[in-house]
Formats: sequence, C-alpha cells, structure tokens
Amino acid sequence: MIDKRAPLTWDLQTTFFDRFKDQDDLYCSLVAPSPLHNPVMVSSNASLALELGLNPESMTEPAMLRLMAGDLAETSFHPIALVYSGHQFGVWAGQLGDGRAMTLGELAVDDNNGRSQLWDIQLKGAGATPYSRFADGRAVLRSSIREYLCSEAMHGLKIATTRALCLVTSDTSVYREEVESAAMVCRVARSHIRFGSFEHFHYRNQPEAVKAMADYVIARHFPEWADEDLRYANLINHTVTETAKMIAHWQAVGFAHGVMNTDNMSILGDTIDYGPFGFLDVYNPSFICNHSDANGRYSFKNQPSVGLWNLNALATSLMTLLPSETLIAALKHYEPTFLQHYRDLMAAKLGLLHYADNDETLINSLLALMEENQVDYTLFFRQLCYFSEPRQAVRDLFVDREAFDAWAVLYVERLSQQSVSDNDRSEAMLKTNPKYILRNYMAQAAIEKAEKGDYSEVNLLLDVLQNPFEEHPQAEHYAGLPPDWAETISVSCSS
Ligand code: AMP
Ligand code: MG
Repeated sequence: MIDKRAPLTWDLQTTFFDRFKDQDDLYCSLVAPSPLHNPVMVSSNASLALELGLNPESMTEPAMLRLMAGDLAETSFHPIALVYSGHQFGVWAGQLGDGRAMTLGELAVDDNNGRSQLWDIQLKGAGATPYSRFADGRAVLRSSIREYLCSEAMHGLKIATTRALCLVTSDTSVYREEVESAAMVCRVARSHIRFGSFEHFHYRNQPEAVKAMADYVIARHFPEWADEDLRYANLINHTVTETAKMIAHWQAVGFAHGVMNTDNMSILGDTIDYGPFGFLDVYNPSFICNHSDANGRYSFKNQPSVGLWNLNALATSLMTLLPSETLIAALKHYEPTFLQHYRDLMAAKLGLLHYADNDETLINSLLALMEENQVDYTLFFRQLCYFSEPRQAVRDLFVDREAFDAWAVLYVERLSQQSVSDNDRSEAMLKTNPKYILRNYMAQAAIEKAEKGDYSEVNLLLDVLQNPFEEHPQAEHYAGLPPDWAETISVSCSS
C-alpha cells in the first residue's frame, strides 16, 4: 500500500535487472541521474497519478519535484539504462541503448482484478549513460512538452502507448541549435523492451541472451504462458497482433510516428518514443512529419508496411528460438489483423455497426475525395457525426461539393441498411471521432508560453487531450482548422 502523504515511500521494486540473474551488465548498466538545477514542475498528470495509486497532490510536493528532477538523494533506488540496438531508416545501426533515459524501478499497482501490474518508472533526459555515445543525455523543454502531451493525447484516443506522469523544467542549459532549457519527463510504461532489444543480442551472436530477454518479457507480462513449446511462438504472435492493432489505430486517427526505427518499437505494441510525430491536418497519405525523413520512408501511408518490415527484423532476431515456419506463420497474420482492425475502426468512424465487404469502396472513395479536396481529416469526421442535420457544414469542407454529394448518396444508402436512429449513430460517432488532436501548432503554442515560464497552455492541452471526445468550451479555438502559420513549423529528430 502506498502512503499517500509520503511520495518517497513509493513501493518501487528495484529488482528489475536482477531478473537477468548473473548477467545484468549484458542487458543494462547501473546509472545515476544528473539532477536538474532549480527544477520547476511544469505539469503533473493527476489522472495517471491516481491510476498508479498516488495522491495527485503529492506530485507538487518538494520531495517529489526533487525526485522527478533526478535527485535521488532521499531514495534507495538503483536506476538502470537498458542496452539495445536497432535498424534506423532501414539500415543496421548497431548498438544504441537508453542514451538519456534511466529507469528508477518498477511500481507494482493493483489492477483491481486481484492482479498486480508492474509499471516501469523512468526519467527521460536524466543525463549521460554508457549508451549516450557523444550526446549529452538531456532532453530539451520543447521536445519534452511534445512527448508529455502526445503520450496522454494517444491514451485519450484509446491508442496503446507509454504514459507520462509529469514534466519538469530547469535552469540547466543544453546546447542544440541554440541554448535551451533541459527538462525531464517521467515516462511510465508497461515495458521498455524494444524490437531492438532482441536484435542487439541476435547480431552479437548471443542466442542465450535472446532467450533470456524473451523469458524476461514472458515472466513479467505473460506468466500464464507456462508451456515451454508454445511460449516463444505466443510472444511473436502477440507482438505481431498488437503492432498491427496499434498501427491500425494510428492510421484511423491520422497519427504519424515519424521515426519507426526498430529501436522505437515496443515488444508489447505500445506507441513509444515521441519525437517528430505529427497528426494529419488535411488528408494527405504522403504526409511526412519528420523533417529529417527526406525520402518519406516513414510517411503516413508507409506506416503499415514499415510495421511489417520491423516485425520481420524482430522475427529474424528470434531465429535461434523458433523454427522459421513458425516465424513466417506469425508474420502472415500481420496484414489480415491490420486490415480487420483498420476496417472496423473506419466503419465505426462512419457510424456503421459493422464493416461490410462493399464498405471498402465507400471508405476509399471518401479518402480519395478528401485528398483531392484537401479536407481536414479530424474536422471532417467530427462534422460527419452531425450528418443528419442540414449537411451544410460537412459539405462545405469540400471544394467539389457535387462530388461530396455523390458520395453522400452512397453513404445515406449504406446507413439505411442498418436500423439505427440518427441520434444514436451520432452519439456513437462522437465517441469515436475526436474533437481534439495534438496538432503541431498547439504543441508549439504551449512550448512558446512555457519557454517564457507560463505553463498554462501545457496544462490546458493536457486536460483537453486526455478527453478528446468531449466538449471543452475553453479550448474551442483548438477544434477548428490550424492557422496558416502552422505550415511553417518543422520538426526533426533533433531533441
Ligand atoms: P531517438 O531518435 O530519440 O529514438 O534516439 C535514438 C538513440 O539516441 C537512442 O538510443 C537515444 O537514447 C539516443 N539519444 C537521443 N538523444 C540523446 C541525447 N540527447 N543524449 C544521449 N542519447 C541520446
Ligand atoms: Mg528512441
């Protein structure tokens, strides 16, 4: 039980790496955070605090601030940084690892079903580790705000993701293109094990370490998979399924990750490592959110196939654990699983109770029309929720209104095949078509204010994005089209 008055008695198990038995230093290194100077709590996430069994008010206590700024003097934690490798932009990059993230330990949280769920509590931006290579181990305020808000926006959108407990800024300076403030996000995740964690040992010719990594993941997350013969096949099948589902969600909501390297792919299929991500404004399948991605490898429309490419890299690294037929069979599930989830999600966005075979035409012709007419993706679906009322608003989003009318005839016909009242359909659609997404310009507005010491926008956006399907009168201005200046924002890997 966590004592709600004393946050530093967090029941953090620091046995994380002990589970790798005698070979800890093969998998991770003991590290010590470099605390930030004069830390300030920019924002803390009350709803996640509650989920973790913490008193949200304790988040603003001085002892918590010190801890979340990397000062472990009052604790007995033994943080670790994990090693991993990965394919970056399709090329084997060799050893990477937690270059600026340190995991303090695991927090056991009762999940109300009599089971205990372990959450990794991690500080991102905590200073150099043995895997920092030539970088400083820090994270700047602007990128930390983006990670903090997007983690929670994705959770609000019901997409599997790592979470963010709080965001701290400081007087500590870091140098990027210019001098910036160093910040830390407390990332909370079911797991930080990546596809690249397995690739690391495979390419170092250490099959026993690949096996230990798989055993660790299974023991922590799937203790019910006791059967020696099936457990590794279960693992690859599970990762294939969850990755397909995650990317189906990304496509349905219009999210582009931006850096789908294998070191940024979670073994559990959670969205991880928010950098130069972007949400679609107008529907543009070729959308590239990462300024550094000149060839568009990670463009919006490429994400589903990159997911499979990455799973293929994971499967390759499990070749010493499983026969190739098993791996190939697992990979073959990816496309049907992706399609099934994507279609179900798109059908729900259109207010259809079920996806029917002919709906492919309905969906694809709509997307083609949206692309041609440069229609805002989120705004369109939100307005479609009110379709039964005079159609004007949604129709007006199209330059070619007659083409929209022609599509609407098909849509009305399709709706008539199900017996759902306009009202009920509208209510269901409002729960699946968000009013708010984290557009770049919104993050930028929060960043610009925060850099001047005003954290109100970060907190407003946190509140809005955690409940993106609801009305927020104080944030109505964020529910419309992005302003013209939004097009000048450029985000890249630099953070
Ligand atoms: P990312 O592109 O953020 O996924 O990072 C790729 C790799 O670079 C990971 O191993 C990161 O830990 C590492 N990295 C990124 N930024 C820094 C930094 N400022 N200091 C040290 N390592 C970093
Ligand atoms: Mg990364």
